[in-house]
Amino acid sequence: MSSTQVPKLSRRGFCLCCVGVASIGVAGGWLSPREAYAEAHQLVHMIRDSAAKADITTHKLRGGVYLLEGSGGNIAVFVGATGKVMVDAGITATRPKIVKALGALGNQPVKTLINTHWHFDHADGNEWVHAEGATIMAHDNTRARLLETQRVEDWDFTFPPSAPGAIPTETFSSDKKIELEGCKLHLLCYEPAHTDSDIGVYFVDQNVLHTGDTYWNGIYPFIDYSTGGSINGKIAACEKSLSMVDDRTIVVPGHGNPVSNKAELRAFHDMLVAVRDNVATLKKKGMSVGEVVAAKPTAKFDAKWGQFVITPGLFTELVYEGV
Ligand SMILES: [Zn+2]
Repeated sequence: MSSTQVPKLSRRGFCLCCVGVASIGVAGGWLSPREAYAEAHQLVHMIRDSAAKADITTHKLRGGVYLLEGSGGNIAVFVGATGKVMVDAGITATRPKIVKALGALGNQPVKTLINTHWHFDHADGNEWVHAEGATIMAHDNTRARLLETQRVEDWDFTFPPSAPGAIPTETFSSDKKIELEGCKLHLLCYEPAHTDSDIGVYFVDQNVLHTGDTYWNGIYPFIDYSTGGSINGKIAACEKSLSMVDDRTIVVPGHGNPVSNKAELRAFHDMLVAVRDNVATLKKKGMSVGEVVAAKPTAKFDAKWGQFVITPGLFTELVYEGV
């Protein structure tokens, strides 16, 4: 693998959990973007520590559906007459602020928590939400991943098995239509995409789709090959989501500006396809990953999509692995 100088990774405005921590310039060195990312970020510890200070912003969406932004992935909440439904649980350290934000929406308890996938910035809060009385639903593979030790190479982090209370007890592996607290939901099982445990949650009457991390709005996405993700799976997941939505659908991404729409989801899909094709063409010529990164196959997208934690170089490496 040829070397690429470490990019300056500005952490200001870092928003994998919208933590807004201070800028940290990564020390110089000669690492691939992927190595630099893993080595420099201490990502999991930093997100958990910073989440304690994060503020929660509540967005009113439609028909009793709200969005809580600021603790890990974007959290959707449906408020029914006698109970709430949560989609994703954020980071445990933010619990007091999430409890306060939920309380501001009404006194109803959270009856059901649905995880979009197993990652800690979406499922870290499972244990406390369950302890307050919620049943946890998720893809079969979220349960399987949380029951076992998981290693995510690109985060340079090994997650121990989750506590018993954090484990989803109602799981599935194909699309499912249910009604919870009077809210009709379609649970969409994506083929392995961001991980092998991804689902989308479509609020039928409200016409709101939470895509989990199959979609990051306006920023290059992370793809977790360690637990089954791939670039082609990401593209297929976007196509499944696009088939579900219309021009009035509110699309909630896992990360990025939380109130999105079909046109922005389409732009994300088209960017993924173009970068995948560019990288595949170069790889087929026999170029190494370092040579492909140096060729800047994402160049025309970087001004818009490359302004976040997944740098153009890292995203190129993630795509290269899957073509
Ligand atoms: Zn994720």
